[in-house]
Amino acid sequence: MASLRFKALQDAISRKPLVAEAPKEKTSEYFGKKVFDRNKMQKYLSKEAYQAVISAIDRGVRIDRKIADQVAAGMKSWAMELGATHYTHWFQPLTGGTAEKHDAFAEPTGSGTVVESFSGKLLVQQEPDASSFPSGGIRATFEARGYTAWDPSSPAFVLDDTLCIPTIFISYTGEVLDNKTPLIKALSALDRAAVEVCHYFDKDVEKVTANLGWEQEYFLIDEALYEARPDLKLTERTLMGHDSAKNQQLEDQYFGAIPPRVQEFMKELEFESWKLGIPVKTRHNEVAPNQYELAPVYEEANLAVDHNLLIMNLMRNIARKHNFACLLHEKPFGGVNGSGKHNNWSLSTDTGVNLLSPGKNPKSNLQFLTFLVNTLMAVYKNSSLLKASIASANNAHRLGANEAPPAIISAFLGTYLTKMLDQIEEKVTDQKMTPDEKTEIKLDIGRIPEILLDNTDRNRTSPFAFTGNRFEFRAVGSSANCSEAMVALNTAIAAQLLEFRKDVDAIIAKGVKKDEAIFQVLRKYIKESKNVRFDGNGYSDEWKVEAKKRGLDDESNPVKMFDAYLSERSINLFKKTGVLSEKELHARTEIKWETYVKKIQIEARVLGDLALNHIVPVAVEYQTSLIKNVQGLKELFSETEYKDLASARLELIKEVGGHISAIKAKVRAMVDARKITNKLEDGREKALAYSERIFPYFEDIRYHIDKLELIVDNEMWTLPKYRELLFVR
Ligand code: ADP
Ligand code: MG
Repeated sequence: MASLRFKALQDAISRKPLVAEAPKEKTSEYFGKKVFDRNKMQKYLSKEAYQAVISAIDRGVRIDRKIADQVAAGMKSWAMELGATHYTHWFQPLTGGTAEKHDAFAEPTGSGTVVESFSGKLLVQQEPDASSFPSGGIRATFEARGYTAWDPSSPAFVLDDTLCIPTIFISYTGEVLDNKTPLIKALSALDRAAVEVCHYFDKDVEKVTANLGWEQEYFLIDEALYEARPDLKLTERTLMGHDSAKNQQLEDQYFGAIPPRVQEFMKELEFESWKLGIPVKTRHNEVAPNQYELAPVYEEANLAVDHNLLIMNLMRNIARKHNFACLLHEKPFGGVNGSGKHNNWSLSTDTGVNLLSPGKNPKSNLQFLTFLVNTLMAVYKNSSLLKASIASANNAHRLGANEAPPAIISAFLGTYLTKMLDQIEEKVTDQKMTPDEKTEIKLDIGRIPEILLDNTDRNRTSPFAFTGNRFEFRAVGSSANCSEAMVALNTAIAAQLLEFRKDVDAIIAKGVKKDEAIFQVLRKYIKESKNVRFDGNGYSDEWKVEAKKRGLDDESNPVKMFDAYLSERSINLFKKTGVLSEKELHARTEIKWETYVKKIQIEARVLGDLALNHIVPVAVEYQTSLIKNVQGLKELFSETEYKDLASARLELIKEVGGHISAIKAKVRAMVDARKITNKLEDGREKALAYSERIFPYFEDIRYHIDKLELIVDNEMWTLPKYRELLFVR
């Protein structure tokens, strides 16, 4: 029975590194080769068409049909030179991943031949069958139809034999059905609001861009071992498995030497990424065995999200080629670290200023403090929403599990900035400041060192940490589309900046000078948002107690976290900024409940199946061998000798029997509970019931399985063990 496991082990152990397929040229010569970027546009488009696309990218100007035909023709010629035979609209439905339907360029002419054709119409719009994508009820009440529309701000690219055109996906009635549209809207709301605030300091600013640099964590497991674990294959996580005697306690994996097989995988991934214009930069071993990280240089947030989704697909495919399975799940293994995706976020202007980086003089530092404090305020007011944006069945395993930030959103600033904010709070008053007081506070602000990177002690336990020139939103899950976190964050900041502008203008209207008005509003915000600031150990129990005292949201059930999308505050926030309507928010939350239920349902089924048809039979077989042994002893020895010899085995027979009975009883109870829960009609109620009534069985059942794994003969055990999954490389 255990032959599959041993065959898999043998395959895995005997694997030699597969040499990565490498381009011959230097990176700089092929970087972006497969992207229809500005250089290629210039080469393949008429001047008129080029200008039209650039205006669409930079200023959102519509492209007319005739021009679209020209752009399509140019794109097609370019793509065909790279060997493309097909094209697709590449979009982000609410499944969390990406979707594509390929059509060939080849079009029959009617006389037995074909020509390659691609029109502006096909470039601009397509109608995939929307009814097979989640819509959260929008389809049911309206038309089933939806369409994808070209987003010129994300460049088209060629993947294998297909020209991929990044698109948004919306219903015919105008509702958003994807993750890209709200992001574009959020980024544009943020741009408008931030430019207004920048004008207090610099009238030349015309555009503010949100940047995102994601750090993608993942596991690589040998393909053969992965294939021998149905739970990994069907749920991307192990539902059982006793801790390996050695796992990460020696801390010998983080930044350790990268195993040769993995190195070849990474090289190939980098080659492919560079061809696609993804500026991947950093690779290293992570904390858990067989865990790694990959990070690019940050980019404009919409593009960065596209690139992350693209790279997640590349990772899975290239891993397969190297006989690995790439696990992007947040928690594939118990007892070792899970995987996250830090979202490094900052704002920059078209005048070349990073708004979250201290400047050279009091004025630029006041601008920096303005954006810093407004960020804190936005995080403080919308902490539940931010949490909802990263909540999922997968990520629930990580948050608060002593390896990732807790399910409490707080912000880390470091000692220097904390002191700075304290000073503003102390020194600024609502009364008119004397010239001396003003000079003093300006001097203080002027003294902020330009490079704070080394002054921040990089608290790793904070879910939202300032790291010198950016914030890191660390609670995002490794398999997530970063778009959701970026929509929540950028929308919250946009609304906050609008409010700031209003507050400051109101004071200026009373005759107070601009700088002083800004000081006064900042001081008010600093005081108000104080509770969200926390520089201590976010993993500690004391923090949980303290956070409760401060009234911070400590909800850890993902289903309840989703509620924040439907709070009055969030509905107003999204409405005011024009990012999502109330109906769209309801639809999206409905999908979150559905997805949660389906995930837990699948896990419950897989766990039940494996428990009954992998674990119990093996345990029975082992128990039978013990019984035979005991019977043999009875035949061979005298009564007293037998008693002595058999007692330990009899104990073991009972122990194994106890676990078998417990597993059977618990699986039965879980199935019964599921039957009742499945009858619930209301989406939220059902998801909540799955989290409270079904999910708790998982640990319970697993406990007995893991105990059996320790006692049953190793030769009989069918599922690859943690020590094999995590240490074969
Ligand atoms: P860490 O020490 O957290 O691993 P890295 O220096 O490796 O940090 O950077 C992590 C990510 O942060 C990279 O994607 C990097 O490009 C990004 N990053 C650096 N500066 C900024 C910034 N100003 N805005 C957004 N992202 C940034
Ligand atoms: Mg980081």
